[in-house]
Amino acid sequence: MEKDALWEAVLVRLSEKISRMEFFTWFQKVRLKDVSGGAVLLSCPTEMNKNWLENKYYNILVSNFKAVSPEVEKLYFQVDLSLADSEVACPHIFAEKEKKSPRKMPNRPDEKIDEGLESRIIQQKFSLKNFIVGAENQFAHAACMAVSETSLKAPKKYNPLFIYGGVGLGKTHLLQGTANEIRHRNPNARVIYNTAERFMNEIIKSIREKKTEELRRRYRSVDVLILDDVQFFEGKERTQEELFNTFNDLFEFQKQIIFASDRPPSELLGISDRLRSRMGWGLSADIQIPNYETRLAIIQEKSKEMGLFLPVDVQEFIAANIRSNLRELENILNQILAEIEISKLSPTIQSVGKIFRKTHPNENFIASRDAKTGIVKNTDDIITAISDYFQVPATDLLGTGRKKEIVFARQISWLLCKEILRMSYEAIGKDFGGKNHTTIMHGIRKIQDLSRKDSATARHIHALKKDLGVK
Ligand code: ADP
Ligand code: MG
Repeated sequence: MEKDALWEAVLVRLSEKISRMEFFTWFQKVRLKDVSGGAVLLSCPTEMNKNWLENKYYNILVSNFKAVSPEVEKLYFQVDLSLADSEVACPHIFAEKEKKSPRKMPNRPDEKIDEGLESRIIQQKFSLKNFIVGAENQFAHAACMAVSETSLKAPKKYNPLFIYGGVGLGKTHLLQGTANEIRHRNPNARVIYNTAERFMNEIIKSIREKKTEELRRRYRSVDVLILDDVQFFEGKERTQEELFNTFNDLFEFQKQIIFASDRPPSELLGISDRLRSRMGWGLSADIQIPNYETRLAIIQEKSKEMGLFLPVDVQEFIAANIRSNLRELENILNQILAEIEISKLSPTIQSVGKIFRKTHPNENFIASRDAKTGIVKNTDDIITAISDYFQVPATDLLGTGRKKEIVFARQISWLLCKEILRMSYEAIGKDFGGKNHTTIMHGIRKIQDLSRKDSATARHIHALKKDLGVK
């Protein structure tokens, strides 16, 4: 088969098998360079694209090649930078894909739910295995592991188990992961996971519909009862009473109970003494804010699960800037995915920095782990940032074109080279295509004047410095 036809046939098959986002991101500019014997050589527009195909898509690629052309045995990859600016290889496949599948933002994944669990809100994606363990959550994780092993056996080691910690530190992940693990070990176990709020609503509904007995029976027939966010019970006396009775029954029959809350039992002052003391009968384990290394590992795990490739410096940037609530992490990663889908470019500190600026307009960002040394090392870093920010090609910044926007962006680059890198006018002139030092000096003065008079210019400079990690 002729090589273009072969590649096209493979692309058509792939487009049916992987998500549209993946297909666009990783295959749009890949070309089949050569076929000979059983070997196929694919050219990729970037190093990252090549690594991605080699590491993540190798098997699916080979099997689809074989389906079209059985003699194909092995794939080789190379980088061809000129492909980055090339046309899409088979425009009609990509165009068709675009039409066929309605646009779906990645931040609403279809969540798989285990029907066997007595809850429609347990997500399969949470497991004890994909929970990253660091010093801050090690104890809570170990306790959940232990409980999932002994959940159906008596005597119980830790009953109830009480996990507590601030928002977005992984309590729900641990609880649902434990529920999944218990079900995995004992497929017939009756496990109820519920949030305190839903639990209360069920009680209210059962009272209204005169079905309280039914509800009681349901809760008291479980093997494991897991209640999340129990701080919500504060001040809800009727619900507390119901829970108190359920607790006593389950406890008496040695059924496992697990709670999570934002505070330890002793601080849940709106909960009756007798219930509060029972919550503290077993083992309490806290989760603290994860440190940098743990955050970095969580970012790696999450992005892997999402099929999102993040360069190491971007991972570090995110780890440095998401400090106390990991829920934001998922938001940020979803936005990065959405942007890749649109721009087809791999994420950079600059592009991710923009997302952070949008979502946290009033914060200063740390450019990298070591904010003192910063990430801006040379003129290239500044040119890349400016080119990204103003959406002008780097070659224009280095050139001599007189278009107003370009001159403006170019002069700002010089200013930043001067201020951040402390370069001399001569050195800047040399790096910007061999310009005279007086040209540079005048350009910088002009921008300095302008930024004093014009707040928009001042804002651009400020934002760029933030992107570049200097305040
Ligand atoms: P909480 O219930 O404590 O408010 P969540 O369990 O909802 O927090 O966690 C928020 C997000 O952070 C979830 O996406 C969760 O998967 C993730 N997360 C938190 N801690 C970890 C961890 N140690 N490993 C992996 N993901 C984590
Ligand atoms: Mg939670």
